[in-house]
Amino acid sequence: MSALPTGFVASPTQISELGLDPAARPWIGPNGQIMRRLELHLTYHCPERCLFCSEEHRMDSYRAFPVTWGRVASVLRLHASRGVQAVHFTGGEPSIHPRFVDVLVLARKLGMRTSVGTIGTMLSRPDFAARALPWLDEALFSVHGPSPEVHDPLAGRPGSFETVTAAMRLAGARPGFGLFANTVVTSRNVEHLPDTVRLLGELGAKLIVVSNLTAEGGGFDRFAELAPRLDDLARILPTLPALAPGAVLRFFGAPMCLLGEHWTCSNDLHWDPRVTVEWQSAPGKVAFTGIYSWAPDRKRVQVEECGGCSRKGVCMGVNDLYAMREETGPLRAMRG
Ligand code: SF4
Repeated sequence: MSALPTGFVASPTQISELGLDPAARPWIGPNGQIMRRLELHLTYHCPERCLFCSEEHRMDSYRAFPVTWGRVASVLRLHASRGVQAVHFTGGEPSIHPRFVDVLVLARKLGMRTSVGTIGTMLSRPDFAARALPWLDEALFSVHGPSPEVHDPLAGRPGSFETVTAAMRLAGARPGFGLFANTVVTSRNVEHLPDTVRLLGELGAKLIVVSNLTAEGGGFDRFAELAPRLDDLARILPTLPALAPGAVLRFFGAPMCLLGEHWTCSNDLHWDPRVTVEWQSAPGKVAFTGIYSWAPDRKRVQVEECGGCSRKGVCMGVNDLYAMREETGPLRAMRG
């Protein structure tokens, strides 16, 4: 077992359960708070090949390791007993897990709110959606642009835009459903962001998350090509909330000072601690276990421009790889 895959590397504010003393209680936070949110990786497969996929390396490493029904059921039961109240299923593409609907049913029976991050694969099929949606409280759909011409090349599959928008329409037709969308900003779609946000609003999204490219997986490999420039973000991001007046906008991974009057829409202010359960590796072993995150500071840093900024205590700054490679001049210390 000398060639085990390299797993997740925890940041300084994260605690991995792999190899932790059995007496440790990582689900109790630094201020005594109990972890309430679980993110569970259901699959390491996906029909798309998004250029910036943060999971690309982990999918390559762990594709051969099945996330069985028995494994998923024990994780859900364990974390329900520790106090988790909401679960977000992720992947790969979680809706292709062979027991996806059973997983949702069990999570609900354990008293959890259920959520999925998806590019719509199975939820675009009316028969499947009719079985799954009654057990889902919300879904965060990945939309990379306002048209097939923008979305499909970034997703790596022709027809991807049609799939995800069909799934959004089916979910949005369900009264009270939490129809949410996430759009990852890259150099290739940044100028289309206004049209993307407008479209997501028209599709009925109640929450639109605009996520800056993260330097993980494909996003790390192609960072030089795909990272949006800070001056483009500063020009475009503040214009977005007005374009989807019925939706809440959140900006993930973006410095607060680039958001203009909408700085309170920074996800740094609205982020919830979470335990992420996924395959992890250590010398000689692989385990499907938890990583506890208590702050949204992964791969973010404050830089020289942040000196004297009144938001230093709540803004996590700029992506660390961007700060290493590019000018951070567009950052502006905030006052007041
Ligand atoms: S100057 Fe730095 S700390 Fe202040 S809002 Fe901008 S990125 Fe955040």
